[in-house]
Amino acid sequence: MRPFQHLTIVFSSVMTMLAIACVQYQLSVWWLVVTALVYVHLLVLGAIFIRWNFYVKSFDKGTNKQWVSLTFDDGPANYTLPILDVLGEKQVSATFFAIGKNVVAHPETVKRWEKEGHLIGNHSYGHGFNFDWQSTKEMTKEIESTNDAIASIIGKKPRLFRPPYGVTNPNLAKAINRTKMHSIAWNIRSFDTKSKDPQQLLDRILDRLSGGDIILLHDSMSITHEILTELIDRTQQNGFTFVPLDKMLSIHAYS
Ligand SMILES: [Zn+2]
Repeated sequence: MRPFQHLTIVFSSVMTMLAIACVQYQLSVWWLVVTALVYVHLLVLGAIFIRWNFYVKSFDKGTNKQWVSLTFDDGPANYTLPILDVLGEKQVSATFFAIGKNVVAHPETVKRWEKEGHLIGNHSYGHGFNFDWQSTKEMTKEIESTNDAIASIIGKKPRLFRPPYGVTNPNLAKAINRTKMHSIAWNIRSFDTKSKDPQQLLDRILDRLSGGDIILLHDSMSITHEILTELIDRTQQNGFTFVPLDKMLSIHAYS
């Protein structure tokens, strides 16, 4: 059972006891209201904080303290090719969590990912703002369509899935289980989509390195391309080796 199921059992029991106390001992009904509000707040926080593993177990860190893994979300995007040039020059393998509709629009980039030894993961088909409000069936379809689009280019289906916006919920948990994907989170969130200052962005990542790290970046951002060479150099100078996610987590990236 996942934490949200434990919480729901505790919540139901507490609500039942409080309801009895309200009827028999004239306890204020506000206790019921407050308990319900706390429950709903916890459900929302559990959806936002993927690392709580509240609805689905997500990998967020490896155990080998010498290793670090780079992950890029939202491509193929504007800066995917220049980022690939840097990775190629530095001989570093990364994981790209691709959006299905972008895969269909840029199959040559997907081929290049594969050819240059990077892993390709699934980051939903549309990455819409309404993604997390969809039914299990709709989410399953997004995951499968993206896997099919990638498989039609590289001949194998990804098993790594990164939830859009890092949000999880019961419907997505079911879709991930149905499609037998591995949910992949991170332990270092770079905030490169919000960052304006390259030095600050670089420091935020480098200060948090502790080994076994999964770094969340976006190949849609120019600032990410801007800091990448220095990020790789300084991470290696600190004694870490870049490895792909399947090696870091001892899991299969494709089925
Ligand atoms: Zn994304």
